[in-house]
Amino acid sequence: MKITKIDVSRPECAPSIPIVSAVAHLDCDLTELLPYLNATQEKAQYFPNHPYLRFMWRGYNIVVERNQVRVVPFVDDQAAKAGASEVVDLIREIEAKKDEITPDHTAYEPPAVMDILKLLPKKSGCGKCGYPSCMAFAAALTDGEVELKACPELERDSVPREYVEKLKELLS
Ligand code: SF4
Repeated sequence: MKITKIDVSRPECAPSIPIVSAVAHLDCDLTELLPYLNATQEKAQYFPNHPYLRFMWRGYNIVVERNQVRVVPFVDDQAAKAGASEVVDLIREIEAKKDEITPDHTAYEPPAVMDILKLLPKKSGCGKCGYPSCMAFAAALTDGEVELKACPELERDSVPREYVEKLKELLS
């Protein structure tokens, strides 16, 4: 498994935001490896019909799809290239141990967006999470694009703690 190139980019809608993402392009298709990643990575989300797999590792949000590994977030281009290479190294390790791993073909079933939305603070448009509305944030949460901690409003005393716990449970 070789990296043919690594692209780095910033969000087009907000180029000033210091979040850099990386896409490592590989010389092989990783689709057959996805159930092995699903078996070894805690809370991995496997979508066999697309097919792709999402997981978190060392604070990185990672998507593996065909011959690409997408990794976010980084503070600059150099960190993005180094981080993407580290993630590919992890995938190489799993591939090397494939014969010792029982593949997990279980598909991820995301929670309903509305179930998430009704537990959010509903300050539509405050945008502190980086999304234009709680609805957009809820959709991103169910897709695994973002973590709950990105909404600072959930830390307010006025937000019932049981709502936060329920959100964590739904997204686990
Ligand atoms: S920061 Fe929280 S309250 Fe504000 S839009 Fe995002 S999800 Fe809604």
